[in-house]
Amino acid sequence: MIGIIGGTFDPIHFGHLRPALEIAEQFDLDEVRFIPSANPPHRWKPIASAEHRLNMVKLAVEGFPLFTVDDREYHRQGSSYTVDTLQSIVNEEDIDKEQADEESATPSLLMMLGLDAFQSFTQWRDWQKILELTHIVVSTRPGYSLENADKWMQGRVVSSISELKQKQAGCIFFSEVTALDISATSIRKQLFNGTSPRFLMPEKVVDYIEQHDLYNATVSGK
Ligand code: ATP
Repeated sequence: MIGIIGGTFDPIHFGHLRPALEIAEQFDLDEVRFIPSANPPHRWKPIASAEHRLNMVKLAVEGFPLFTVDDREYHRQGSSYTVDTLQSIVNEEDIDKEQADEESATPSLLMMLGLDAFQSFTQWRDWQKILELTHIVVSTRPGYSLENADKWMQGRVVSSISELKQKQAGCIFFSEVTALDISATSIRKQLFNGTSPRFLMPEKVVDYIEQHDLYNATVSGK
């Protein structure tokens, strides 16, 4: 099973990395792919360029082979829709499977979402199609709670990992991860105010931000 974590990563921080590791361990994942969104359709334009955000994600996972970086959204024109990304990953895995061994099953995908992102999931383009392509694991996030399970979730929410693994896609699992009240917004604010984001994110990423003078007072107001 392959974990997928998409995001703006503007910039990447431990609130992305730590839940991804905990979920990878819970599900015994073979790989976690970080997929920076080049042109996120559901929010304002990122502050740092797609190239800087991609570079920061690469630095953050350097030396940790379980975590890989997938730059397909960076190379695609137009808005970065998750459904297109997942479809292209599934197509690739199908081809790999055919070439390797007819008997083997295509690996399932497990898309990781924080509770905040999950709350707007049904506003995403072709969200029903997304559920045909991947399972979803929703991680807890400080400051967010799920008020009610909506109707569309009925029959999809599973309470055990083994139950999820019996299906190829379409299940939703809620995972309690270590609560880290870190957001890219708060990091950008700190940088804007001239305070250090060190120890909220990998040191290499802090160094990269300093070297390239990202999120400085002239470009970052959020
Ligand atoms: P911003 O503050 O700019 O909105 P962010 O910190 O929420 O950014 P994103 O890149 O938008 O980061 O998030 C990517 C994914 O990681 C989303 O699914 C989001 O819910 C999740 N995520 C981000 N921060 C945390 C955190 N501290 N704990 C759990 N999940 C998180």
